[in-house]
Amino acid sequence: MRLIFLGPPGAGKGTQAKRLTDKYGIPQLSTGDMLRAAVNDGSEIGKRAKEVMDAGGLVSDDIVNQIVSERIEQPDCEKGFILDGYPRTVPQAKVLGENLRAKNLVLDAVIELKVDEEALVRRIENRVAETVAAGGTVRSDDNPESFRKRLSEYREKTAPLSKHYEEQGELVVLDGMAHVDQVTTAIEAVLEKAPGAEASVAR
Ligand code: ADP
Repeated sequence: MRLIFLGPPGAGKGTQAKRLTDKYGIPQLSTGDMLRAAVNDGSEIGKRAKEVMDAGGLVSDDIVNQIVSERIEQPDCEKGFILDGYPRTVPQAKVLGENLRAKNLVLDAVIELKVDEEALVRRIENRVAETVAAGGTVRSDDNPESFRKRLSEYREKTAPLSKHYEEQGELVVLDGMAHVDQVTTAIEAVLEKAPGAEASVAR
């Protein structure tokens, strides 16, 4: 099962991806998490990415393409993977498409979670409040200014991906405003019809 989640920051991609990893026994590949790990490790990539990420901008296509293409070679991706936060630009989608073709792999589904912007702002505020209440560290880009920038980057660079995948007949749009369990049920219904469903359900 190879799956892409599309949707603006706060749409619930990460939450849904985590739920599916257990059911299908495949990893969630969040480029945001991978980049944050690189920042924490103080690696060269992390140093280059930190400033852009904190400001809510997009890290260069070359960096993320490289990270993902190495990651999907790992043995735990053999049965598939869930891409969360990648691709985020049309050039990234093209590189991913070429990579998959070269490896003889197909995508089973591209799922977009649709949500309205006001809800997104509230969700991010809640995420910050919950993190603080739990004694955790708030992401350095979860502040109003960076969030606005992340939304505008989404509109300008990531939203055009819907059309890209729609033209390829791969896009499914689901209501991300529904209750989190209902969203999971809707996703599972889509995946049951996907070509890779049989082979990859964890038994
Ligand atoms: P969110 O979905 O909440 O905006 P992510 O954790 O997916 O957050 O990403 C955080 C940041 O990491 C982005 O704002 C961007 O700077 C960087 N990033 C993540 N994925 C990509 C990508 N595919 N291309 C470019 N930058 C990325």
